[in-house]
This record gives sequence, structure tokens and C-alpha cells, in this order.
Amino acid sequence: TIRTRFAPSPTGYLHIGGARTALFSWLYARKHGGTFVLRIEDTDLERSTAESVNAILEGMTWLGLEYDEGPFYQTHRFDRYKAVIQQLLDQGKAYHCYCTKEELDAMRAEQMENKEKPRYDGRCRHRAEPREGVPPVVRFRNPDEGEVVIEDWVRGRVVVKNGELDDLIIARSDGSPTYNFTVVVDDHDMNITHVIRGDDHLNNTPRQMNILAALGASIPHYAHVPMILGADGARLSKRHGAVSVMQYRDDGYLPEAVLNYLVRLGWSHGDQEIFSIDEMIQLFDIDAINHSASTFNPDKLLWLNHHYLMHGDPAHVARHLSWHLGQLGIDPSAGPDPVEIVKAQRERCKTLVEMAKASEFFYREFEQYDDKAAHKNLTPAAAAALEALRENLAGLTPWGKTALHEAVAATAEALGVKMGNVAQPLRVAVSGTAVSPPIDTTLELLGQNQTLARIDRALE
Ligand code: GLU
Repeated sequence: TIRTRFAPSPTGYLHIGGARTALFSWLYARKHGGTFVLRIEDTDLERSTAESVNAILEGMTWLGLEYDEGPFYQTHRFDRYKAVIQQLLDQGKAYHCYCTKEELDAMRAEQMENKEKPRYDGRCRHRAEPREGVPPVVRFRNPDEGEVVIEDWVRGRVVVKNGELDDLIIARSDGSPTYNFTVVVDDHDMNITHVIRGDDHLNNTPRQMNILAALGASIPHYAHVPMILGADGARLSKRHGAVSVMQYRDDGYLPEAVLNYLVRLGWSHGDQEIFSIDEMIQLFDIDAINHSASTFNPDKLLWLNHHYLMHGDPAHVARHLSWHLGQLGIDPSAGPDPVEIVKAQRERCKTLVEMAKASEFFYREFEQYDDKAAHKNLTPAAAAALEALRENLAGLTPWGKTALHEAVAATAEALGVKMGNVAQPLRVAVSGTAVSPPIDTTLELLGQNQTLARIDRALE
């Protein structure tokens, strides 16, 4: 059975690139009825933080990338790593290295001078005696001959000569295991069948494969996904805007829009742009991952977000809107049903932040009128219209869309003006702005008491 994993180092938030490899690994497991494992690679004690772990877990939860096993923490597995190191030492597949920093520096300097690629020359492989006072590191004895062949599912065949690899340190002098080693032990122990990760790890792969072979482990399939670039062609970074997944939540994106965006970032299925989660699971394939880097396009993400706001289940969108209303200090239960707000607002809004801000007036009195809107619409002539409206609306029952539409139309007719000359001052009076859903919907949602109170405020 298929087993994939996402193995973030908790040194920051969950970023776009990490979320994409997590998504690909998740999709592949889901597609094949396999298992998706979450592993926290927290062996770098100085850079790993609990906040970062939480941020990663929060990001995955928000995206809906639920894992079947884990999270496993590498820091909880030190005993296991130590045992494997001892096993390799016992088998002569690893050895203690007593070289001092000065010795290694001199070796490197000499190699540089001879125009050789700096690499550890294996001089401690045959050292018979420990060196007094030098705490040793442990090095993996890399094969001297032959080559490592990676049949990468994205990159194709990659061949690296063993002569180009040197004896990797697998345990530091304090006994702590190193990164490439822990990845190998874990991929083996966790029976990972498919490693999908960023191609910045491609250099590590031949070393990891040699250690796997030394452990008698089977070699997983590797798929190294090309990196993500900003519009300027440089590697995607904060300079290009938000790169944290949770920032997109805060900025008013729906998780399904972000997922849809991520799946298309380096993967395609014909020219289809919109994928439901089920479709992604059905259609995703490693073979169709692009071979070249992808460019991050914030406009396209925004376009997708609008699509999902427009076509998503209003109750679902409303749950996310409620969270954003909460961020503005609004209790959504104190006003109109957010589901109705979504239906009324979604055409006009590209993000949930926009929607929440544009809907604030339904839940609480706005502070000020928009200057321009007030100047243009709350004129002395408009006051007559508002007064007439107030009278017509005060006795209106039931307070429903059709009746409201008729009341506004009748007021305009009685005054001999266009409907807009009544509706627009009314809109500014109740919302403080010149933009809102259709006036009948707006008034219906706002309710009779608030409508009348705000007309009174405008007439003061
Ligand atoms: N911990 C590594 C990272 O965050 C990923 C290692 C892997 O996927 O093999 O870049």
C-alpha cells in the first residue's frame, strides 16, 4: 500500500511551497487509498520552535490536509537513531572520525589549491586507535565504487557517481544525529513508499539512498517537485507578498481556493482550472507534475477565491465569513444570518475580508458616512425623499423584499423622481456608503428598527 509523508522542519510558518508538497503527498495517498504521515523534523533544536509546530498544524487543519499517522517528532526518536548508528558502527558501515577542525580545514585548503572539489577523504576509516581528548563524530562509510541512480518521477533519471559523495557525518560529537540520517531512518521505519518533496532536496537523495541500502531498506520512489518562483523569476519569498498559508486565511481566502491554486502550481490536467477536492484526488498524478519551475500568480489566486465565494455552498462560505466578522469584533448572531449575507454580497467581493467589511453595517452602527457618498446623496433634496420613505416604511408589514421594493418604488413615484433618487440616499443613510446589495435586500437584512433608526440619523 502507498504511504506518503509530509516532513516539515518547524522553523517558521507553513508556507506556500511546503503546503504544495503536503497537498501533493496527501492527494497521492488519498487517490490510492494509502496513508499520509506527518513527521515534524525538529532535530535542529536551535531553530525549531513549538510555535512553528503549532503554525504548521494549524495550517494543515485549515487546508483540510488531515494526516492518518502522526505527528511524529524526530526529537522523540533519538534512542532509535542512536541504536541504528550503533548498528552501523558494529557492522563496519560507519566509523568514528576524530579529525579536528584544524585538520579538516587544512584538508579543504589543500584540495582547493589542487582545484579539487572539497570532500572528506576518509582518513579516519582505518584509524585503529581513538584519539585522546577528541570527541568523535560518526561518519557513514559511503561506497567508493559505482553510482547511485535516482529514477525520479518528475526529473527522470539522475545518476551520481559514488566517487563524488564523501562520508557523511551521521552523528555529531555530542551524539546527536544529523538531518540526512534521521530522514532515512524515519522513511524506512515509517515504510514510506513515495517521497514527494521540493527539488532543493535532490542533492541529499543519493546520500540517503546509500544509507537506506546500508540498512537493507527498500528505496522509496522519489518525486522532486520544481520550485516556485515569484513573477520576477526569483525564488518565491516574502518580497513577493504573502507566502504563509495562514496569511491567506487572514487575508480572506477560502481554503478550497488556496488548495485549488496550489494543485495547479506545478501540476495540470489539460487546461482545467477549477478542481473540487474530489476531482483533485481522482485526477492527481505524479506523472503530470511539471518539469520546470512554476510562477506564483496572486491574481489567479484571487480569481479562484472569487469563484469559490460565488459558487461555494453559502452555508460553508458563511462559516468562514463568521470567523472574519469575529475578527472585526462582531458577534454574527447579533444580526442577520451570515448565510443570507453571503448570498447578498458574494457577487461584489473577492475576499472574505472585503465581504466582512462591506457587511459590518448590518451588525453595528457605522461610525461615519463615506464622505463622497454623503456629499452626493444626503442633500436637502434627498431629505424630502428620506422623510417620505420613513413614513412609508414605518408601517410596513411584512418586512419583506417584495413589499420593500414596492414601498421604495411608490415613494419615488409619489415624489415624481427616479427610483435611484430615492434608493441611493436611502442606501447611504442605512449603510454609510454608496455600495451595498440591492436596496430591498439590504433593508430586509437590516431589519425595520435599524432601517428607521438610520433614516432618522441621516435626517438629523
Ligand atoms: N524537513 C525538510 C524540509 O522541511 C523536508 C525533508 C524531506 O521532505 O525529505 O525541507
